Amino acid sequence: MSPYGVESKTSPIEGLGLFATQSFSVGQKIAPYLGHTTERIDSAMTAKSATYWLEIKAGLWLDGSSAENPARHANHSCTPNAELVYEEQTHEAWLIATHAIATDDEITFDYGFSIAEGLFHPCYCRQTNCAGHIVAAPLRPALRRHLRFSRSRD
Ligand SMILES: [Zn+2]
Repeated sequence: MSPYGVESKTSPIEGLGLFATQSFSVGQKIAPYLGHTTERIDSAMTAKSATYWLEIKAGLWLDGSSAENPARHANHSCTPNAELVYEEQTHEAWLIATHAIATDDEITFDYGFSIAEGLFHPCYCRQTNCAGHIVAAPLRPALRRHLRFSRSRD
C-alpha cells in the first residue's frame, strides 16, 4: 500500500499507470517522484529502455524507475493533470495537481522529453492534441514541423 493517495494499475494509455485513490485539488501535492539523480547522463544510461531519465530542473536528471518511487508508473500525457516540480529545499521532485483530480482518475504529467528522445517514444495518451510522440509541450510545434518535412513527398 502506498502511503500516498495513489495506486498503480493497468492503464488505457500504456502498461501500468498511476491512479488516484482520493481527490486532489489544483496545486495539491500528490506523491514524491523519487529516484537517483545525476548531473551527467550519457547514451548508455538512456538506452536502458526500462529507465526513464527525466530532467527535473535544468541540468539535473532523475531516474524514477526504482520500485521505491511511489509515482514511477505515472504515464506521460499531452494533456496532463499534474506536473513534476523540483523542490530546492528538500531536493525532492513531487507530482503536483494542475487540474482537479477525482478518485480513480489516471495521474499524468509531461515527461518533458527533447525531440531527439521523443522520436523513440511514441505517445498513446489519446488526447485530441496528442503529438504522437512523448515530447515536452513547448517543443511540440517544432516536432510537428520536423515530422512534416521529413516525410517523403513523392
Ligand atoms: Zn500524447
